[in-house]
Amino acid sequence: GERPGSRPTTVSRDLAARAARVIPGGVNSPVRAYGSVGGTPRFLVSGSGPYVTDADGNNYVDLVASWGPALLGHAHPDVVAAVRFAATHGLGFGASVPQEAELAEAIIERVPLVERVRLVSTGTEATMTAIRLARGATGRPLLVKFAGHYHGHSDGLLAEAGSGLATLALPGSAGVTAETAAQTLVVPYNDLDALRAVFAEHGDRIAGIIAEAAAANMGVLPPAPGFTRAMIELAHSHGALVILDEVLTGFRASAGGYWGIEAAQDPDLISDGVTPDLFTFGKVVGGGLPLAALGGRAEIMDLLAPLGPVYQAGTLSGNPIAVAAGLTTLSLADDAVYARLSLVSDAIADGLGDALASAGVPHRIQRAGTLFSPIFGDFSEAPRGYADMQRQETWRHRAFFQAMLDRGVNLPPSAFEAWFVTAAHNDLAVELVLAALGPAARAAAAA
Ligand code: PMP
Repeated sequence: GERPGSRPTTVSRDLAARAARVIPGGVNSPVRAYGSVGGTPRFLVSGSGPYVTDADGNNYVDLVASWGPALLGHAHPDVVAAVRFAATHGLGFGASVPQEAELAEAIIERVPLVERVRLVSTGTEATMTAIRLARGATGRPLLVKFAGHYHGHSDGLLAEAGSGLATLALPGSAGVTAETAAQTLVVPYNDLDALRAVFAEHGDRIAGIIAEAAAANMGVLPPAPGFTRAMIELAHSHGALVILDEVLTGFRASAGGYWGIEAAQDPDLISDGVTPDLFTFGKVVGGGLPLAALGGRAEIMDLLAPLGPVYQAGTLSGNPIAVAAGLTTLSLADDAVYARLSLVSDAIADGLGDALASAGVPHRIQRAGTLFSPIFGDFSEAPRGYADMQRQETWRHRAFFQAMLDRGVNLPPSAFEAWFVTAAHNDLAVELVLAALGPAARAAAAA
């Protein structure tokens, strides 16, 4: 039969040209721009299970999964049915709907440290609000973040951030005032000495630390063993809060997110009370629709308006259609789903490692739960932070990406992003990926 991904891409090319005339760079989010991989960005017109189809009719096995939300695959029939049902009852009211509490309960059930949940529409809003809460709760101004961690695009969080800023090699963003930037202290990841030094100097002015539960926006880079514990202990000893950002990892790295993995590895974290104060969620929790959430201890969360003095609001917050998609996704995400995600991740990550090794491409496969990404280059010593991750031989990724795309596999168009599998990746989809890896690895070797 016809090789997947082998048709022309002229329709996508024309759509890209049209979009570029009316949308900056032709995209509504920079990571879609193919800036670092070159070639024609594919305009997607449909998705089903593990596959997506572009505007020219090319089919791809998708390893982007909407950048995480599509845990169950694209257009899962039950999720679509729930969305359709909700839509026929009204697209939104700006009033409370019964399902909001159901979704909050579903989150609390999976992350029991969370006692209260507020629903918002994007991960950016979730982290922005969590930070406001940390400042409101402590009365302190400063925030600590880690280099290479991405928490959305609010002003204070763009310093040395991952995701599109890593791909474009931007240190931050124009349009952020020096005053705002000065409120964020950026520390190298997995570097306890640096973190201690920052607290020694500024401890009584630090409201909190925000950290990805496992970094996955500079490529995948989990916390070193014991780092999360030490980070929380240090923050708490200085009266600062810890915001664990699980927008990407939540309900994906494992059922309980990456925190779930850490708490299983070190059960004393919970019994010792060494726990994050606030969590942020997005992506999977919205089942593919615009929905995100923050949650935490009641004592802190209840500082939010209308109970408390920390203001936050949203016309579309708790939108019934988005809630239906999230609730249905979480309720379907059972043990079998996570078992499948693990199996698919293992199969593809192992195949990837084998293919790169056979082709003689220096690399390392980075893993965090069901998340993984390759890093190209000599990483015989495990990377610890952003500076290490930036040493990647990104030109190899570019060649690798294009070879995969040519063989019908849609990867994140950046060397600094995780690969996302879904529970809908059946054996055939996995086989198609594995078959593409050998030639792509050889393309990376030749680059
Ligand atoms: N935090 C993390 C860890 C993320 O990965 C992202 C998005 N990739 C965000 C926050 C921001 O979420 P959103 O794009 O929905 O604003």
